[in-house]
Amino acid sequence: MLCLGIESTAHSFGIGIVDEKCNVLANVTDMYKPPEGWGIHPTEAAKHHDEVRQDAIAAALEEAGKSMDDIGLVAFSQGPGLAPCLHKGLNTAKELSDSGSIPMIGVNHCIAHIEIGRKTTSLKDPITLYTSGANTQVLGFVSGRYRCFGETMDIGIGNALDKFGRGVGMGFPAGPRIEQIAKKGKYVELPYVVKGMDLSFSGIVTAALNKLKREKLEDVCFSLQETTFAMLTEVTERALAHTCKDEVLLTGGVAANKKLQDMLGVMCKERGAGFAAVERSLSSDNGAMIAWLGMLMHKAGNSTHDEVLPRQRTDEVDVNWI
Ligand code: AMP
Ligand code: MG
Repeated sequence: MLCLGIESTAHSFGIGIVDEKCNVLANVTDMYKPPEGWGIHPTEAAKHHDEVRQDAIAAALEEAGKSMDDIGLVAFSQGPGLAPCLHKGLNTAKELSDSGSIPMIGVNHCIAHIEIGRKTTSLKDPITLYTSGANTQVLGFVSGRYRCFGETMDIGIGNALDKFGRGVGMGFPAGPRIEQIAKKGKYVELPYVVKGMDLSFSGIVTAALNKLKREKLEDVCFSLQETTFAMLTEVTERALAHTCKDEVLLTGGVAANKKLQDMLGVMCKERGAGFAAVERSLSSDNGAMIAWLGMLMHKAGNSTHDEVLPRQRTDEVDVNWI
């Protein structure tokens, strides 16, 4: 059986097609880019998704060498995410499901990130550090659910990097650009904000922008990464210690960052824990991960309502496929 997955939680509209062994037959993503100097406007992103969705479906089917007749299941991102964007995914799933009499299933976006990571790396029961534009969470499987051990109290780490970038006139997304510029930088002090197991980034972004009155851009970029990534590493390490797990999985768009990978890698090595970052095409928001979680849930006998859940929490979902 093949599953077609639809990702539409935020800026990306993705269509992925996977088989029962998680071979990725197609993974097409079309990303909404806000005008320079602006963040993501939910209704503008949704309008983008509406405009590109038919082409994305056609491109994915072509990439896979398949037609809709070959698809046995349609999965969509149910939440968390921006409601207008989620509705585009739900409507697309409904159309495909109705016209081909194909079952459909809604999946949790954050858990989809974890499951594609578990399947495509050697890690089996990791603490997952999920670092994306909107989300920053430290997650681990305990007592039948993916529990959240720590998370951001305000904006996601990717959003923090993008906000800083916007403040200095970088295009979106700013994360990769900051990573390049930081290579030439040295440390200048920024606030370090970990409260219990939770993190806060927005004050650090403001402090970093203020620092630019006196310090060089490369030094502030270096310190912004150094500080926020150290915070992420600290909380991830404590989740490892607390759960007695011995693996760390890094995913989300910010997982592409080599500095973050290195810092987590060093921490894991010192603890004797395994570490892996999900490969880039599967760590950013994408349809293949939605398709794979849909497949797992469907095979385990799950069904869902045709609704979006913009505020769905990772630990609300009963995990009966592990
Ligand atoms: P996602 O929301 O998972 O699609 O991830 C998008 C986020 O990843 C954006 O905020 C980007 O700035 C960020 N990002 C992408 N590549 C990098 C990188 N190399 N370093 C830091 N952040 C990155
Ligand atoms: Mg994501």
